[in-house]
Parts: sequence; C-alpha cells; structure tokens
Amino acid sequence: MPRILLLPGDGIGPEVTAQARRVLEAAARGADLALDFEEDLIGGASIDAHGTPLTDAAVARAKACHAVLLGAVGGPKWDAMPVATRPEKGLLRIRKELGLFANLRPAVVFPALVAASTLRPEVVAGIDLLVVRELTGGIYFGEPRGQALVNGRREARNTMVYDEEEIARIARVAFEAARKRRRAVTHVHKANVLEVSQLWVQVVQEVAADYPDVSLQHQLVDSMAMLLLREPANYDVIVTGNLFGDILSDEAAMITGSLGMLPSASLGAGGVGLYEPVHGSAPDIAGKNQANPLAAILSVAMLLEHSLDAPEAAEAIREAVAGALADGHRTRDLILPGQDLAAIGCVEMGDRVLARLERS
Ligand code: NAD
Repeated sequence: MPRILLLPGDGIGPEVTAQARRVLEAAARGADLALDFEEDLIGGASIDAHGTPLTDAAVARAKACHAVLLGAVGGPKWDAMPVATRPEKGLLRIRKELGLFANLRPAVVFPALVAASTLRPEVVAGIDLLVVRELTGGIYFGEPRGQALVNGRREARNTMVYDEEEIARIARVAFEAARKRRRAVTHVHKANVLEVSQLWVQVVQEVAADYPDVSLQHQLVDSMAMLLLREPANYDVIVTGNLFGDILSDEAAMITGSLGMLPSASLGAGGVGLYEPVHGSAPDIAGKNQANPLAAILSVAMLLEHSLDAPEAAEAIREAVAGALADGHRTRDLILPGQDLAAIGCVEMGDRVLARLERS
C-alpha cells in the first residue's frame, strides 16, 4: 500500500495540509487506491519538539515512503535563531536527503481567475504550462566560488557547471511530463554566449531522439522572458537549468496572479517525490481559517500523477478545483477589489472541492 508522509510544518501549513489530505483520500478512494498516511514534524514545530528542524527519524520515514506532502515552514517565533538551525534548514535537508534534482512548477490560469492576472484576459486565457527546473546543479553549487582580494580589489566568482548526465536526467523528466500533457518541450538556454548552454542544447537534442512523439524547440532565455509575457498560452513544458529556472518559474507563476494557487513537485533519483505549495507559512493569517488550501490541494493532484501513477484522479481534482471556483467560491486572497463575492474559509474551500469531486 503506498505510504504518504505528511509534514504539515508551521503557520498555515497544518491548515492547508489537512484539506489537501481530505481531497487526496477522496480522490484515491474514487480510483480504488488504498493509501497509508504517516505524519511527522518539520521546521519550527520540530525545533520546538526536538530542538532540530528535521530529525533523522523523520528523514528515514520520508525515505521509506512513496511521497511526502509538505505544508510550509517558518515564522516570526524562530526568526531570531542562527541561520544553521532555522526552520528553513529542515526544508533544505529533506530536499537534499531525497536527492530531489527536478522541480516541477505548473502555471495554470483557471477560467474563473483570469481577472487576477496583471496581464490582459485575452493573453492569459488558456495558460497551462509546466516549468521543469534543474535543482541541484549549475551556478548555485559550482566550484570554485567565493570572494577574494585580488590586487587590492574585491573580486567574486561563481561557476556554472553541468555534466551530461545531470542534463540528460532532467531532460527525461521534461519529456516524460510532456507525454502526459500536450507533447511540446521548450528548452531554455543561453547558448549564444555560454558553453554550458551549448552542452545543454546537444544533450537535450540527444534525449529528444528517444521521444519522437514530443516536439522540441530551443529558446534563448532572454526571448523566453519576453515570450512568457506576450504569448504564455503557447507553451507546454519548459525545461531549463537552475538559474534560468529559478527566475522563469516565478515569472510564469506571477502571470497567474495568485500565490495561494501554486503547487509544486520535486522529484529525484530515489523515487520519493516531495509535493508542496509554493507559498510560505503566512503567519499573518495562521490559525484564522483564512488560508487558501488550493495550492496544497493542487499539490496532491501532482502527487497522484507523478508518484502514484493515477493521472485520472489528478485530473478529477483539478476539475473539482476549477468547478469550485466557477461556482464563485473564493478564499479571501482570491477576491479582487470591487468583486461582489463573500470570502469562505480554508475548511469550507476544502468542503467545496470535496463536494465537486464526489459529484464527479
Ligand atoms: P508567505 O508566502 O508565507 O506569505 C506572503 C503573503 O501571501 C502573506 O500576506 C500571506 O498571508 C499570503 N499568503 C500566502 N499563502 C497564502 C494562502 N495559501 N492563502 C492565503 N494567503 C496566502 O511569504 P512570507 O510572508 O514572505 O513568509 C512567511 C514565512 O514563510 C517566513 O518564515 C518564510 O521564511 C516562510 N516561507 C516558507 C516557505 C516554504 O515553506 N516553502 C516559502 C516561502 C516562505
């Protein structure tokens, strides 16, 4: 029986994770899939209980599971702690321990939320793209790095380095994801000036030979930044390295206009996927039943798709979310100035999605 580890964390983490679990259980029931749930602490909650943001026991549990669903970590209570022992370290550790090299960030605009984007409705309508970002290599980790005094001047350097296997494995994640979508991969690079990007172009092209049913185009990162604003609905899967992916995934996300709607998945060589909303622990609204649980709920849709091979159950959740929004249900963060809609709470939004799911 697939085992799911819940790491609700801090702030609104437990609230949104509770709703996501209800929806996951219902969707799994609908797909005749029995799940086994475990729960552990991460972040500030783990610091308070165990003096560390993630225990070895929690790491071992995560490694023994099929997938981990995480809420959020951090909050003012732990802000004054030394960097090495802060809640965020728990997040960094779990990602490292699970060897998560691929970060998947979908950007979808639900028809009912088209007006939340800062772009014009006709540009935003139909956006459904997935940014696949390499997470463990590139300029954020390359050596040599550091600052030094050279000839009396301060100088600093970082190194962008990738080997062919690191590129091939992330490219395969992108092509596999594209096969479950609209079968179009856009590789984003800067091969006109960077040798690293020239290797990416070669290796991605080689991997593409194994996926003749998926189209591939290469796009310069500067053009891509513009095209995402001009014609975002034209893209399906975007694959790129750590630095470009960091920037483009946030750009794509903000086109959709709502932080409370953004899920993510991180996949690795070990086979355990980590699923979490993109937003933080929102201490300003924690414990008030005001959080939007949809990012966490959409994260369990990704969990069903990527860790449990249940794409139909995943789609049922996405349709239930779209349906609840189309019915006019909104948490406070989704109501735009001038809109005549009454806000519902985190639990009530969970109820609305469940009702839609059970109807389907
Ligand atoms: P945040 O994402 O927690 O909140 C930013 C704003 O968006 C707040 O006004 C918040 O109320 C709102 N918001 C966020 N998620 C929401 C939701 N689901 N529903 C409704 N409103 C929502 O970012 P922040 O305020 O910069 O950080 C707060 C804490 O979260 C900090 O301790 C930070 O370190 C931590 N953080 C954690 C993660 C993570 O766990 N992955 C990510 C970012 C920040």
